[in-house]
Amino acid sequence: MSRRFTWCALLLLLGLASRGWLLADDARESKEKLRVLIIDGQNNHDWRAMTPFMKKLFEKSGRFTVDVSTNVRKGDKLPEGWMSVPFPPDLEKYDVLVSNYNGASWPDKLNKQLEERLETGKIGLVIIHAANNSFGGWKEYNRMIGMGWRDKNYGDRLLLDESGKAVRIPKGQGDSTGHRDTRPFQVVVRDGDHPVTKGMPREWLHARDELYDNLRGPIENVHVLATAYSKGTKVHEPMIFTVSFGKGRVFHTPMGHSMGGDITALRCVGFITTMLRGTEWAATGKVTLPVPENFPGPDKASSVPTK
Ligand code: ZN
Repeated sequence: MSRRFTWCALLLLLGLASRGWLLADDARESKEKLRVLIIDGQNNHDWRAMTPFMKKLFEKSGRFTVDVSTNVRKGDKLPEGWMSVPFPPDLEKYDVLVSNYNGASWPDKLNKQLEERLETGKIGLVIIHAANNSFGGWKEYNRMIGMGWRDKNYGDRLLLDESGKAVRIPKGQGDSTGHRDTRPFQVVVRDGDHPVTKGMPREWLHARDELYDNLRGPIENVHVLATAYSKGTKVHEPMIFTVSFGKGRVFHTPMGHSMGGDITALRCVGFITTMLRGTEWAATGKVTLPVPENFPGPDKASSVPTK
């Protein structure tokens, strides 16, 4: 084989390879549907009511396809008619993982796959409410979620003072995570230029929810998009934030409480819009889904029916 021929062949291969990459990227950024995986099956919240509602919202947006992988406790049965892909799932098949899970450890293989794929930007991660209670002993998970429901000695905490300045409180100081205020509350957008919050009113009324406070963790590469004032802690607590994990994007909201079939918090149009746009952003880094007309205002709540 001549040297020139070898070079030509090499260039041709490189060309094809780069075209392949471009095509893959284009597909993710285009209107082609993004593949969501929801993991649930163990949670101190009503995952049986939450997941089907979330799945329906994702699908109705026209932007996502959804698989659910349900890891029930030994002895627990899947609800009748429940559709689940086998657990542990293969993350290669998905653009974004939405965790609705707060329970026993996942197999090491799944943890490693999530770490690797997130780090290299091949998958996004979305954390809803009690998903941030999970996996206190999984170091990389705590880096991914930025901060979660933990003891005060576990890590630092972040609050916003009256002027809107972020203040970091060292571990050991203050309280452990809790929800010292449960009611409809105003969400205050702190970065209105981020794709997820762009177009939202600066303040909007969220439906009744647990207002998580004192989230604790390593808080590396955390960007706070919105906060809410807790009457329990008398400061603004992070309510919507992102975390960079290597090349990967994590979208995290502690909103979304549910219990005994009551999914009031999830029915809020503000929550729904936040979840859908946050998931799209975690998968692609961009947001095409609009802020809907019926989005809540500063004093005006807005909710959709359960069905
Ligand atoms: Zn809760």
